[in-house]
Amino acid sequence: MSYTGRFAPSPTGPLHLGSLVTAVASYLEARGRGGRWLVRMEDLDGPRCVPGADGEILRALEAYGFAWDGPVLYQSTRTAAYAEAVRQLGDLVYPCGCSRREVCGCARGLPAGRVGRSLKVRGGDFVIRRADGLYAYQLAVVVDDADQGVTDVVRGEDLLESTPGQIYLHRALGLTPPRYRHIRLVRDARGDKLSKQTRAPALPLTAPAPVLRQAMRFLGLEAPEAAVDELWEWAVGTWRPIP
Ligand code: GLU
Repeated sequence: MSYTGRFAPSPTGPLHLGSLVTAVASYLEARGRGGRWLVRMEDLDGPRCVPGADGEILRALEAYGFAWDGPVLYQSTRTAAYAEAVRQLGDLVYPCGCSRREVCGCARGLPAGRVGRSLKVRGGDFVIRRADGLYAYQLAVVVDDADQGVTDVVRGEDLLESTPGQIYLHRALGLTPPRYRHIRLVRDARGDKLSKQTRAPALPLTAPAPVLRQAMRFLGLEAPEAAVDELWEWAVGTWRPIP
């Protein structure tokens, strides 16, 4: 099967150096193998999304020289596909009436007097539809990766813990899971992951080349001083695929 990779930012704020490193790694893996590279906006969690952040992210990707294949897929348009996946999971799905802190026994049936608020999947025992009615990241990412024909996921090691559940869901839906690779995170001086929560600065849109170079260096590429286009040409030619 030919290679299809993707970058799947959540539009909860602008891209920072940490997200750039993930994007560069997945892009180099895809382009280095002659594969496709998609962008997906993970805008399922409406309340956490910042209006306009999607456009800002796409403009930053353009400024840093990324070229994606096909249209950007927005998860907010995919509710019907997620509902269909829940239907297909059939008896594996059970309602849960617990709060996060409770030890959940709902897989054996809702306790008397409890109302099912979220939906969980048997075997993995994680939420696939939240109590507020939103489909969970775990379900959406699996359905989208499958529907978009993603063969390879390259992402930060902070998502390592969600990978077994995603593989489980792919299999439960009769799908072949993609290959997953997780890369080291960029951390600040205190050792915290760069993130919107730790107020990582937004990527500068003017003079992107030095920052792109910094991201490439983080990934082990001794990138020369060059303009964005030349950096990419050099990096795609130099990149050794992650084993
Ligand atoms: N949307 C997730 C994030 O921004 C990434 C999901 C993934 O790569 O599977 O953290």
